[in-house]
Amino acid sequence: MMKRITTVNAKEEIAKLKNEQCAEDDVFFQAMEEVLLSLLPLFKSDEVYAKSAKNAIIRRLITPDRVIKFQVAWLDDNHEIQVNTGYRVQFNNALGPYKGGLRFHPTVNEGILKFLGFEQILKNALTGLPIGGAKGGSDFDPKGKSDFEVMKFCAAFMKELHKYIGPRIDVPAGDIGVGAREIGYLFGQYKSITSSFEGVLTGKPYFFGGSLMRPEATGYGVIYFTEKMLELETKDTECLKEKICTVSGSGNVALHAIEKLQHLGATAVACTDSKGTLYDHRGLDLELLKELKLNRRVSLKEYIKKHTDAEFIPVSDYPEDAHAVWDIPCYAAFPCATQNELTVLDAKRLIKNGCRCVAEGANMPTTAEAVRIILKSDMYFAPAKAANAGGVAVSGFEMSQNAAMQKWTFEEVDTKLKATMEEICINVSETAKEYGVEGNYVDGANIAGFKRVADAMIAEGI
Ligand code: NDP
Repeated sequence: MMKRITTVNAKEEIAKLKNEQCAEDDVFFQAMEEVLLSLLPLFKSDEVYAKSAKNAIIRRLITPDRVIKFQVAWLDDNHEIQVNTGYRVQFNNALGPYKGGLRFHPTVNEGILKFLGFEQILKNALTGLPIGGAKGGSDFDPKGKSDFEVMKFCAAFMKELHKYIGPRIDVPAGDIGVGAREIGYLFGQYKSITSSFEGVLTGKPYFFGGSLMRPEATGYGVIYFTEKMLELETKDTECLKEKICTVSGSGNVALHAIEKLQHLGATAVACTDSKGTLYDHRGLDLELLKELKLNRRVSLKEYIKKHTDAEFIPVSDYPEDAHAVWDIPCYAAFPCATQNELTVLDAKRLIKNGCRCVAEGANMPTTAEAVRIILKSDMYFAPAKAANAGGVAVSGFEMSQNAAMQKWTFEEVDTKLKATMEEICINVSETAKEYGVEGNYVDGANIAGFKRVADAMIAEGI
């Protein structure tokens, strides 16, 4: 008789891996556990996936194809040699070349990159594009470094990374701490080493091969997804209009989410950075935010010098497991900074304050327990894997443009992005319905993404 995947053997797989892995892997197990538990309705009802025990799909899916770890030695402005660690986790290429961002942040370690790479497999699958899953980065902190130091670091990082990437092999992009400046330096070094001008990185500046709208893609995509989800669930096509919204982060994803909210007539009243929460009850001044965070790269605290009515609440004013931004009454909350930044206490406050919707712009910003609380409430919840797939979708569009030596207009990319986010949303919603978990976008996203990857893995054999 065919062996079925059950809760027990999905958990056994995690337990086996836990024995082999290091403490850094906690966040990776958190992500894996969430996915595997979500897949239970699929394993129970679908004969094809019952065979996945035979094909060892789970075991193969949760084990990266390879983890590359390397030393990055670079020269700082004082002519002293600094040493960081670089990584690339090539997780799964069943659907296409490995694809996923690079993160430069002091908290980066192998466990965080495995979590992000694992999530990326299913997210990329949801876009419907031919791309696999990967993630990489370094514990290097670009904050406080001169341009020259960032360039030196990127060159040293690419000196090693170039051996493992290529337009048909692995195509990295940006993430926290890696924006157009860093991608430019990384691309320049790849080109000098290989003498090849090719689409090996996405998120490039427009004038040498980048796609229009890549900077906006993730933030805009989150709002397109949320709008569609609210329309499907409430039948209201203008759900966000004139609504109060709160956003965490003030980086690439957060600022563009705020921008799209403003386009739709919503009022974003709060955002955050690593120092605290900014609250401007009249609505955030986006131009000033962009000047502070994208151009001058300074704290949000500077904002209140111009807008004296606004309030800056330092992180230290709140307990470690709660955040001021989620204590502000709102219709919709958009966590767009980092992982595990919306906790149980935060979720309870959002519910108490009448919030109707949480949509994740960052990767796994809501803790597992907080997700459970939200799903039990009457709030709508858009999980990162589906809601923030707009960035990688436009990265996929950038790969197409590079391969065809073409440039698409802003409107073309925007139209395709909106259509992609709406398709993802409908697919996730219908999958949830099909497997008896209607309205649960977490399970819907995990099942829909998994099915696409598992189908390819089974068809390709070992
Ligand atoms: P940025 O580096 O542009 O911005 C990150 C923001 O989050 C900054 O405001 C930063 O504050 C804040 N932040 C970072 N780490 C912490 C922390 N430990 N505690 C509190 N605040 C923190 O990154 P992005 O906007 O690109 O990415 C944000 C999230 O979205 C990440 O989870 C990323 O993986 C995810 N994502 C990004 C995509 C993209 O296209 N960029 C695509 C899909 C997902 P400060 O300014 O003080 O540093």
